[in-house]
Amino acid sequence: MSGLEERVRTLLRPEVLALSAYHVPDSKGYIKLDAMENPYSWPEGMIEAWLDRLRRAEPNRYPDPACGPLKAALRSANDIPAEAELLLGNGSDEIIQIILMALPPGSTVLAPEPTFVMYRQISLSLGLRFVGVPLREDFSLDARAMEAAIISHRPAVVFLAYPNNPTGNLFEEDAMLRVLAAAPGWVVVDEAYAPYAEATFMPRLSEFDNLLVMRTLSKLGLAGLRLGFLAGAREWIEQLDKIRLPYNINVLTQISAQFAMENQPVFEGQVRSVLRDRQWLAEELGRLSVVRVYPSRANFILFKLLSHEASEVFQALKEAGILVKNLHPAGGSLSQCLRLTVGTPDENRCFLKTLREIIAL
Ligand code: PMP
Repeated sequence: MSGLEERVRTLLRPEVLALSAYHVPDSKGYIKLDAMENPYSWPEGMIEAWLDRLRRAEPNRYPDPACGPLKAALRSANDIPAEAELLLGNGSDEIIQIILMALPPGSTVLAPEPTFVMYRQISLSLGLRFVGVPLREDFSLDARAMEAAIISHRPAVVFLAYPNNPTGNLFEEDAMLRVLAAAPGWVVVDEAYAPYAEATFMPRLSEFDNLLVMRTLSKLGLAGLRLGFLAGAREWIEQLDKIRLPYNINVLTQISAQFAMENQPVFEGQVRSVLRDRQWLAEELGRLSVVRVYPSRANFILFKLLSHEASEVFQALKEAGILVKNLHPAGGSLSQCLRLTVGTPDENRCFLKTLREIIAL
């Protein structure tokens, strides 16, 4: 081992050394169906109006740390209850980090698994304990197992992705309520896929003082801006806001996200197209006897290959220029599973045609 490697080993926390970096593949030139992005761009007139707005930006000045106008726009676009307070983050990833940084050392974080990997990743990088509770075989939330784990581990935070990533399903409301009732600390309902879910806990914020609802603009069509937000009781948000870095939402994001919120109908139209195409894709995939399709309430579809190696199918799709997410390496209930983001109709047709050719081989 070189001298520098030795110093890295001794200087850093073992939890950090044990982590692997979040891998993002190079996607240039691919039909990109791997990251739950909205595939649509904006109409020309809207781009012009946006650029006009950006012309007024002052990049020499620090951004507005309170993001007043942007918060107001987010409130009305997302039906946030008046009594709830908002915390903004550089993507909801940053909000997860802010929440976890507020916990006492040695705290436990709990989530059903498989779920969004950053709950575990950020918990471990901060030296917190992470407990994963298996979902049932059909990926539904096992309320009884969650209650038992909550009683034995007393988690400071429970994360529930609603709908869940990478499985795509929406947990039953009753099971969610049982977790909310049992949890001694926060329950963060992560509504990253809210635009596609037609279900939300946002109106229930006032019913549960341990409930926090998190959302992002990424899946709506603004992944490049990096903007997420957390809604919850003022008493909680005030504390979390102390940890937030003062200028975490940059000038361009503030202007662009506010502009986007004023153009909601454009995004609503795009969401309708994605919902229509999700159904079409699920039906078409369902016709393939060698595929099991899981129900989705998000803008992606999880499917399992019943008589092919998922990694080989993934590789063959990639060689044909199509990028999906290979979940097989995660193992367990995700063995032989691929996750497909709904693309444009052309992209979806191309994906299906290529998949049919691959599995016929
Ligand atoms: N939560 C869930 C459930 C997700 O799937 C993702 C993105 N894959 C995020 C949060 C993070 O989104 P972002 O940081 O882009 O806001």
